[in-house]
Amino acid sequence: MDEKKKRQSIILYVILVIAIIVAVRAFIYPAVSTNQVQTVDYSTFIDMVDDGEVDQVQYDTENSTILFTGKGSASGTTYETNVFPGDTDLVDRLTKAGVTFTAELPDQGSSMLLYLLMMWGLPLLFIFGGGYLLNRQLRKSMGDDAPSMTFGGGGIGNFGKSGAKVVAQSETGVTFKDVAGEDEAKASLAEIVSFLEKPQRYEAIGAKLPRGALLVGPPGTGKTLLAKAVAGEAHVPFFSISGSEFVEMFVGRGAAKVRDLFKQANEKAPCIVFIDEIDTVGKRRDAGLTTNDEREQTLNQLLTEMDGFDNHKGIVVIGATNRPDTLDPALLRPGRFDRRIPVELPDLAGRKAILSLHAHDVKMDPGLDLDVIARSTPGASGADLANIINEAALRAVRMGRNRVSQEDLQESVEVVIAGEQRKSTVLSEKEKKLVAYHEIGHAIVAAIQRGEAPVQKITIVPRTSGALGYTMQVEEDEHFLTTKTEALNQIAVLCGGRSAEEIIFHDVTTGAANDIERATQLARNMVTQYGMSDEFGPVALGTVQNRYLNNTATLTVADGTAERIDQVVHDIVESCHQTAIRILRENQFKLHELARYLQVKETITGDEFMRIFSRDNDLLPAHTGNDG
Ligand code: ADP
Ligand code: MG
Ligand code: ZN
Repeated sequence: MDEKKKRQSIILYVILVIAIIVAVRAFIYPAVSTNQVQTVDYSTFIDMVDDGEVDQVQYDTENSTILFTGKGSASGTTYETNVFPGDTDLVDRLTKAGVTFTAELPDQGSSMLLYLLMMWGLPLLFIFGGGYLLNRQLRKSMGDDAPSMTFGGGGIGNFGKSGAKVVAQSETGVTFKDVAGEDEAKASLAEIVSFLEKPQRYEAIGAKLPRGALLVGPPGTGKTLLAKAVAGEAHVPFFSISGSEFVEMFVGRGAAKVRDLFKQANEKAPCIVFIDEIDTVGKRRDAGLTTNDEREQTLNQLLTEMDGFDNHKGIVVIGATNRPDTLDPALLRPGRFDRRIPVELPDLAGRKAILSLHAHDVKMDPGLDLDVIARSTPGASGADLANIINEAALRAVRMGRNRVSQEDLQESVEVVIAGEQRKSTVLSEKEKKLVAYHEIGHAIVAAIQRGEAPVQKITIVPRTSGALGYTMQVEEDEHFLTTKTEALNQIAVLCGGRSAEEIIFHDVTTGAANDIERATQLARNMVTQYGMSDEFGPVALGTVQNRYLNNTATLTVADGTAERIDQVVHDIVESCHQTAIRILRENQFKLHELARYLQVKETITGDEFMRIFSRDNDLLPAHTGNDG
């Protein structure tokens, strides 16, 4: 909750308390103690007794006063008068008049108690009780993670609990069937499922089960989904909280949330406690110069709780992160997140499985080929693939159809990879020509080189991502290793666009920026990570920091070496560039022919490309030609 809102609610609360106190004073206190006492002189008292207008008399020994109540016309009024010292026959007079009299104090004592209770007890009750209620109310209305209000520096007012957002889902409704591929991860998690179902069986044999499992992998690979599936398979409650929710403004509150979370989990055990993005709390404690007290306290609390909970009951903590390298080693030691489960990007079979799983949710033309979609999306995560299916369905609706067609799928792959088609951007004829030569340049270099995936589609329709043209390649089949030759071929293909510009226009454009960046990155990885340069041989020259996020290495070399690396990287890219230029020179006629064709058609398929390209072409390696 932001500062302003918080201040407003505190003011509101203070006004409420003041109003309650005023109300108590105005309505309750007078009714209790001040029965409108009227002070009269002694002679009036004597006269009233003699006239029979006095009902009861009380002698207040402490103050030496007489309190009396009236009768008849004066009934209902209480009078007070001072005792007259010389009057000795007052008792006779009172007896004669038939007045009840007493020297005891009327129950002043108990009314005093009542008064105190009313004056202080009630408001205090309101302050505490009301504060608690108000707090809950506020928190409910402002989202659960709003911090509870504190008064006077967290003294009396820190009511209620930490407000950790732990809505336990009693049934997640997700099972392993909803997770396609990821068979290794599922196998590792199956043991946890069986433990949660029958903790006694494991206890009987004396086996200790992991208290925690850590799912590591790139974003969108289904880590959250898998955790839910474990809870769903075992039919246990699922407590889910994100690491960032622990990190609070006030020191100590994150730790309180952790305590709360485990307390609740303990009550509901067996259950799953899922901490998403655990790296937010679990960062290495000594990292960097700046310390973060709050985060460290939270982490320490988490470590303590993980040591402390009673594992016989069957609580399993599952964490998920895409930055395992930054985690504090204490989190990873046995007894905590000792089991590490990699959730990798799906391979060809996995992608196909994910596509067909999500395809179940939408209406499709019969006999759609999901295989080709899976093959054209290497590197896509499960979330990307789910998105592709959804984009295709949206496109079908836009086109006024009620089933998804192959074309929808094809197009949505490009939307997800390259962005929406940008029909409003009209390229001038000159630009169209440039882009056509550039794209055909890529395609020809790819087609000529052995081992390069065949071109599937070439287009010069601009995309919202900024790409003016696009050459899409499809892997024939999955491969997990890249040879040095393949890497060099890839760099040459990336250089193909720029090389075509140079050969034909004797000038260069800004359109090759992305190609150059990727080519350079690949060359740099070859040198620093894969040991693929003759100069340095198989020596790691850097360490990979963020394997799952961007996979770039930080150099761990002397300054002089860094300079030499730059030189070697430059040499690799330049030699591939020369290869591309050579290939395009040798195929210059085809380059012209295809570029003109593309300029007119704007989009051509891989088959069209191959047909034109392999027509009377002796230079083509035998296996790339697909017609005779
Ligand atoms: P992560 O937590 O790893 O970032 P999520 O579990 O949130 O990823 O996945 C996001 C979405 O992507 C899921 O809701 C699901 O629709 C889809 N998805 C990801 N991986 C898979 C998979 N293996 N099978 C089916 N759907 C998947
Ligand atoms: Mg997630
Ligand atoms: Zn390009």
